[in-house]
Amino acid sequence: MAASPSLSISHRIHVFWHEGMLNHDTGYGVFDRGEDPGFLDVLDKHPENSDRVKNMVSILKRGPISPFITWHSGRRALLSELLSFHHPDYVNELVEADKNGGKVMCCGTFLNPGSWDASLLAAGTTLSAMKHVLEGQGNIAYALVRPPGHHAQPTRADGYCFLNNAGLSVQLALNSGCEKVAVVDIDVHYGNGTAEGFYTSNKVLTISLHMDHGSWGPSHPQSGSIDELGEGQGYGYNLNIPLPNGTGNRGYEYAMKTLVVPAIQKFDPDMIVLVLGQDSSAYDPNGRQCLTMDGYRKIGQTILELANKYSSGSLLIVQEGGYHVTYSAYCLHATLEGILNLSPPLIPDPNGGYPEDEAFSVKVIDSIKRYQDENVPFLKV
Ligand SMILES: [Zn+2]
Repeated sequence: MAASPSLSISHRIHVFWHEGMLNHDTGYGVFDRGEDPGFLDVLDKHPENSDRVKNMVSILKRGPISPFITWHSGRRALLSELLSFHHPDYVNELVEADKNGGKVMCCGTFLNPGSWDASLLAAGTTLSAMKHVLEGQGNIAYALVRPPGHHAQPTRADGYCFLNNAGLSVQLALNSGCEKVAVVDIDVHYGNGTAEGFYTSNKVLTISLHMDHGSWGPSHPQSGSIDELGEGQGYGYNLNIPLPNGTGNRGYEYAMKTLVVPAIQKFDPDMIVLVLGQDSSAYDPNGRQCLTMDGYRKIGQTILELANKYSSGSLLIVQEGGYHVTYSAYCLHATLEGILNLSPPLIPDPNGGYPEDEAFSVKVIDSIKRYQDENVPFLKV
């Protein structure tokens, strides 16, 4: 397995996982609604189901990058740890909902029996992964967790998320002495919860590349548009990159090169968090961005280069969405293959022949670049 000479080799990814997270049962229905209209013979599993994560575990255990992975057991977060990101009233609401047998927190977001324990495991496992990097026990850690977290805001659940796993880990990094943390969120949806949690902070640069889906209701009032730049001291430290449907591998590569790399360069973080969703893939039921394995691999390589250059190689990867039960696992493999800087591709793309046309995306990305250059103070320095 040769590594390209221009990049340093990262020999190992520390994966944090706990099978108790499989016990979050989101049920069946018409797509994610949990509704049985009574006239369909076959209902969908909720998109955020345990099968998707079982395949992510198995491709890392049985696939060709298994020799590069060290497995660690996750743990439950303590309630007190949640308060670094979440409001106590919201944590109490979740505890009460669990005691009462469950609650529909918002559209498609079901706290069922077993869900709260899985949520605590997802949060605690992500904290353990971050701690591993902070303590220098490994440069690169991956929190393979569910339920996902990046929509969970300090005071509310949203979009299948209850606790903001990445946000909690960022806060841990800050509390442990990191001065600047950069978050790059490539899930196909806006990382509104993480953005909200650090909206007034200039210590956390949140960058989100997402579908231009806008607000989707009371649980997700943020629009993800380019003018949501942060407030107060945090003004300019929330960079939204809403991308056209079908942006594809070359469009993402252009967005990374044009918008993400220069922002990280200027910000100069001492920790990078990759918020990873495979729902930006070409086959995801919840996304329309059309990445294939090649695109994920390239993003992984770029993130590795950024970590090596700016954060002494320190990188935490946090699992978010990704709802195609098999292709998500392949895209995870490709991303980690990029982060390990392994070449050539060790698994062929089972369906990578997506016809790309990035011309419109390039125009949009150029216009976002112009807007950010005019309006973001730290990019001008
Ligand atoms: Zn998503």
